[in-house]
Amino acid sequence: MEIYLDNAATTAPDPEVIDAILPFLTTHYANPSSVHGAGRKAKDAIDAARHTVAGLLGALPEEIYFTAGATEGINLLLSGAIQAYDLSHVVTSRIEHKAVLQTLKRHEKEGDIEISFVKLDERGNIDLYHLENLLRANPRTLIALMHGNNEIGNLTDIHAVGVLAQRYSAVFFTDTTQTMGKVRFDLREAAIDFLVGSAHKFHGPKGAGFMYIDQKHRLKPLIYGGGQERGQRGGTENVPGVVGLAKALEVSYRNLDESQAKISKLKQYLVSKLSIAGIEGICYNGESKSIENSVANVLSVSFPCLSAGSIVTELDRAGIAVSGGSACSGGGASHVMQALACEANKENVRFSFSKFNTFDELDRVVDIIVSIYESDSEVASNKAWSSIASWTWADSMAAEQASFNKI
Ligand code: PLP
Repeated sequence: MEIYLDNAATTAPDPEVIDAILPFLTTHYANPSSVHGAGRKAKDAIDAARHTVAGLLGALPEEIYFTAGATEGINLLLSGAIQAYDLSHVVTSRIEHKAVLQTLKRHEKEGDIEISFVKLDERGNIDLYHLENLLRANPRTLIALMHGNNEIGNLTDIHAVGVLAQRYSAVFFTDTTQTMGKVRFDLREAAIDFLVGSAHKFHGPKGAGFMYIDQKHRLKPLIYGGGQERGQRGGTENVPGVVGLAKALEVSYRNLDESQAKISKLKQYLVSKLSIAGIEGICYNGESKSIENSVANVLSVSFPCLSAGSIVTELDRAGIAVSGGSACSGGGASHVMQALACEANKENVRFSFSKFNTFDELDRVVDIIVSIYESDSEVASNKAWSSIASWTWADSMAAEQASFNKI
């Protein structure tokens, strides 16, 4: 693999994160529950990581619980909240991650809850009026709405949702897996009861995540054991993972403005290059093309005449990693695309960027996409593509290159 553009699936660990983790694999490997000095050193590292994460998010250290990733946190928080407050109604959306939808489906099947799906507009944005109507009709509801969508990048106004949650005494869980480390949070101000993060989405290690539980809540654990994480999650802590998670979040927020500006530019650059390529009928799914309304690093594209599978495969052959739909759904028509009325049958290719990508990499990607169109005779004879047969690729690229401000 030469070019990695699948950063919504996972990210490369930051070198600073690797440096922080290593001593906890080689030297400070003791069990944090052990009372000896080596154990205390490991425990101190976990405490320090908890303070770091809490400080960065405007939370209290006792509101942060380390887990093995977002999926575990989602399972625990949704099941825990339903049980703790005897909630029989949940409002969610059809574009949530499967970890949310499958967990809720199980509770529905067992007769614990009824699920209402909030209406989405044609680009997948939450209809806040519909949400308010649902809450008015069913106070004491659990709201499970994600902050940033992993396939189409849509951002939900979690502040507005939080205000509604407070107005109707609802409990608000938001899946911040795709926005953690990319957007600033101040949980002192936000009306959010629960959220989750996963370190590998922000240049940390895999298998390490965390939950935020507002201090006013007490939930039953999902995993019982030796009382770790203040009884909320049994099992010996993943000390290198926890240390790496905190370091990754620290690095993300230290360089947030700079890296998000670069990532936004990368997205705009790819859109502009594809536009110069003149592929008629290309379209951008959800809000992913919008700089204001989407997670900066996700761009979901439907290409005319070609299946997402063929583009993903050809790019892969050229050493370029992208996803068709969500990596988690293994490609194909995803539930997210199906939920968007006007996009339902569209194939989609997801390009997702990180601070480590370069503009030159995107030049290469567009070159390959153009060559796929040129080499596919069936596609080349198609009206949409043949209409640009006289297109002067190299000339227009050179002109655009000169005018585009590469950072
Ligand atoms: N939620 C969202 C929005 C995601 O994108 C993902 C991973 O793709 C998850 C939850 C699950 O994260 P993990 O696999 O790290 O548990």
